[in-house]
This record gives sequence, structure tokens and C-alpha cells, in this order.
Amino acid sequence: MTQTTIFSARKIITMNPNRPVVSHVAVRDGRILGAGTLEELAGWGDYTLDDRFADLVVMPGLVEGHAHTMEGALWSFTYVGWFDRMDPDGGTWSGLKTVDEVIARLSEAESRTGDQDAPLLGWGLDPIYMGNVRVSRHDLDRVSKTRPVGVLHASGHILNVNTKGLELAGLLKEGTNHPGIPLGEDGLPTGELKSPEIIMPAGKHVGMDRAFLATDENGLRNYARLCVRAGVTTSSDLGQQLNDDLVAMFERVTGEAQFPVCLVAFRINFGIEPQELVDYTASLTDRSTDRLELGKIKVVADGSIQGFSARLQWPGYYNGAPNGLWYVAPDQLAEIYERALAAGVQVHTHTNGDEATQLTIETLEAALRKHPDFDHRFTLQHCQLASEAQFRKMGRLGMCVNLFANHHYYWGDEHYRLTVGPERAERMNACRTALDAGVPMAIHSDAPVTPLGPLFTASAAATRQTASGRTQGEAQRISVAEALYAVTMGAAITMKMDDRIGSIETGKRADFAVLQDDPTEATPESLKDIGVWGTVQGGRIFEASGI
Ligand SMILES: [Zn+2]
Repeated sequence: MTQTTIFSARKIITMNPNRPVVSHVAVRDGRILGAGTLEELAGWGDYTLDDRFADLVVMPGLVEGHAHTMEGALWSFTYVGWFDRMDPDGGTWSGLKTVDEVIARLSEAESRTGDQDAPLLGWGLDPIYMGNVRVSRHDLDRVSKTRPVGVLHASGHILNVNTKGLELAGLLKEGTNHPGIPLGEDGLPTGELKSPEIIMPAGKHVGMDRAFLATDENGLRNYARLCVRAGVTTSSDLGQQLNDDLVAMFERVTGEAQFPVCLVAFRINFGIEPQELVDYTASLTDRSTDRLELGKIKVVADGSIQGFSARLQWPGYYNGAPNGLWYVAPDQLAEIYERALAAGVQVHTHTNGDEATQLTIETLEAALRKHPDFDHRFTLQHCQLASEAQFRKMGRLGMCVNLFANHHYYWGDEHYRLTVGPERAERMNACRTALDAGVPMAIHSDAPVTPLGPLFTASAAATRQTASGRTQGEAQRISVAEALYAVTMGAAITMKMDDRIGSIETGKRADFAVLQDDPTEATPESLKDIGVWGTVQGGRIFEASGI
């Protein structure tokens, strides 16, 4: 016999324009049977009334369109970032404001690590907030001279190691000549390592093993617990080097009875030729389940703006830094797009600088002439610096965008002062322009780059405040209602899942975020402070305090 549960709540926000607010929602077999009054829903037959949410507010489960499950794996290591941050257990780690505080926390972790040879790894360091002070191997030697110690920066693009770590990596020698390995006055490396081809081999000596770089079973479970605490019921994992082993691990863990979130795992374009990338990704599509969506590609076109590795159009960086790097060759990008369109595989592309955005737009336009597709929804991820003309073009080509609202908060001041200058800083992450140009839009955290939390992300898009408290780009603010749409339906649309998630209406999966207060009544500033009670995912109830 099929069981029907009808939930009552203080208020149920549906994101369904036909009936935006209801008092009850009926769930059967993990799906929404209907949303309306108790009397209307009773028409479906026998039911059990569940009033545990009577004092709470229910909205569609939040959808994170750009994050990495690596956020879960990182908590096996020591957090040393500038901002306060919540761990999967719900504990808050205070932000560290000086190098001395970073050394103190690492030393404390060191004293708890038994094995004298085991590496010690910290993550989240952001010296840009500490007057851009350079951390050296001598600083980290204060933590240990005998144990390898490493600290990964918040951007993920710089790794500091101590003397022991340098020695194990074979880098403690004079005469090194590499732009990614700065030297000290003594002619030896300072311990700061800057490029992926240096960081990867050195990193494994300080604990950056596979579990750190990709994710492991516990990392996935920890990530899922963070999702419950943030009200997230569906999250992308935007870029894994998926292979049969990793896919099997995802299947196993997401298939556990109490796994509380649906993951959308994208295959990244690194280390694989375009044809194999598209063929392999297409072959995964049929392995999708209710809690694991497969069959999508992530391509990285350029680097990061604050790392000066993004590709900018003229006149380039405000501080005169040379233009950034292409992470994919233009002819490879064209081949991936053409093959993916032909195979019906969706591609999300990381672009930060406006030159990278322009390349992807032109490449896609040419590919579409060869392989017309009226609903490809190729999505630009971050797309931080796009101009109004680029958004207009994206709209006409049927593209979607996922803008980095959190970035505007965390690094907006640096963009204004240093990277792109005042004028272009005001147009970064241009939510208003995207919506006005008719481009379907999501907004994101890119966790672990910034913390997972769509209500914070929505707040950031609505206020456009930077960390110093300035409103940067008043004209690009969006309303609370638009921001809430972006973190539910908007993100669902960019991942082609809007037929299944994103709103509370008949036929969709029973995915809810359960909140302490009404987000539609919140101000742009107070939206981020609304407490999350937990989630309902596929009809299963997950309370954050017990997760
Ligand atoms: Zn990312």
C-alpha cells in the first residue's frame, strides 16, 4: 500500500507561480503529490498528518550549482582561514587574523598528531587579508622541523611548505630557476610553491594525497552533512576526474539509505582527449540515479582574477600584471563543444576573465552552426567579468550562467583596488544584467573556495556588499525574491533538472529546505542569518542538529 504523508508548516513557499504560498504539502513515494490546503490534499485518499514543521517555514530544497565535494574531504585537515567557518559537525572554527595565530593552530594540531613522521596539512590561508604578508618555510618550521608541514591557500593556487617538506620534495637546493618557486636571500626556495605542476608532486609529501585532491567516502559523507546544515538537497560536484572506480564509489556512497543529498558529478576536461571525454561522459548518463546525476562535462577555460591568471580583454589588469593563462587550447575547446553538441552532452565552462568568456561564446556559436541544438543550456561558470554585450549574446545563443556572488563579497575589495579597478569591479557578477538579458541564472559558493550556504550567496547577490561593507555595483543588485529563485529554480535550470527539482509542485521530488524563518520577509542583509532546521530529501527527513 502506498503511504501518503501530509506536512503542515507555518508557511510553505513553492516557487510555483500558480500558487506561490500554501499551508500543506503531500508526499508519496518520495515525490510531491500536491501542494495546497489540507482539504484539497485529502482528496488523494488516506494520509498521515505530520505537523513537526508547524512552527517552521518550508521552501524548495536549495540547489548549489557550483561546489566541490572536496569541501567535505578538507575537514580531515586543519582550517587556517581568515573567516569563521562551520565544519560538518556544526562546530565553528574562528577565523585567524595573523600568521602567529596560524602557527599556533597548526602547532596545536601538531601536538595531537601521534606519528612523528606523519605530514601535517592546513588549508584556507588567505594572506591577502594580512597585508599580503609572505609566509615562508621558516614560519612553518616553528610548527615542526622534523615533520613535513604544508598550508594550502584559500584560492587553491599556492602551497606553502616547511623546510622538511621542501627537502622531501627534492626542492631544497640552490640554483632553482622556476617562476613558481620563489627564492629567498639565501638562494634557497622560500617554501612558497605557485603552479599546479609544482604543487601536485610536492603536495603529496605534506598530506595532499588523492583523498585530499578528489574526495573519498568520508569526504562525500561529510560534504552531505554540510549540505543538510545549509538547506541544500541537490549539489553539483563541478569537476572530478571521473573514472570507473570513482563513479563506483559515488554510486556506493550516494546509494546509502541515509545519504541526504543528490550529487551532480561533472567530468572535468583535464587529462583526457576531447573524443574520450565526450564518449566516456555520455556513457555515464544511464548510470544516473535519484541521488547521483551523471553525464555532464566541466571545461576550464582560464584561471582566477585575484591570482592574475584569468584572461582579460583590453586594457587588462588594473595593476599592470600581464594577462593570464589559457587552461584549454582554443582548438580543443572547439572540438569538445562540437562533439558534446553532437552527442547531446551538456557542458559547463569555467570562465573568469572577459576574454575567456568571449572565446567560449564565439566557439559555441561556431559549433552550433555545425550542430544546431535548441536547448543545449551550455553554462558559463563564474563568468565574473562579462559585459552587457556578452550577456546579450549569451541570451540569444541559449546559454545559461552561474555567477559567483560570494566572490564579490570575499574579494570584491581586492578587485576594486588591484585586479580590474573600480569601473569593471562594479559590473562583476552582473546578476541584474544577466536576468535582463534573459539568461537563465544561478549563483554559487564554489565551496571550498568560499563556504557552502545558498542563503548567504543569495544575500550577497541582493546586497552586493564586500567584506569591508561597501555596496559595490548598486545597479547589479537583485531582489531577495530573485536571489531565492536563483538558488532553487535558477540552479535547477542550469543543470537541466528543472523538471524534477527547484519548486514544490505536483510530480517533483520531495526536496525541501526547512527554515526557522521566512526568507521572503527577510531584508537582503538579514537573509543570510536565517537558521536552517534541516532538509527533506526525496521525502526523507534530515534534522541538522542530529546529522
Ligand atoms: Zn569550482
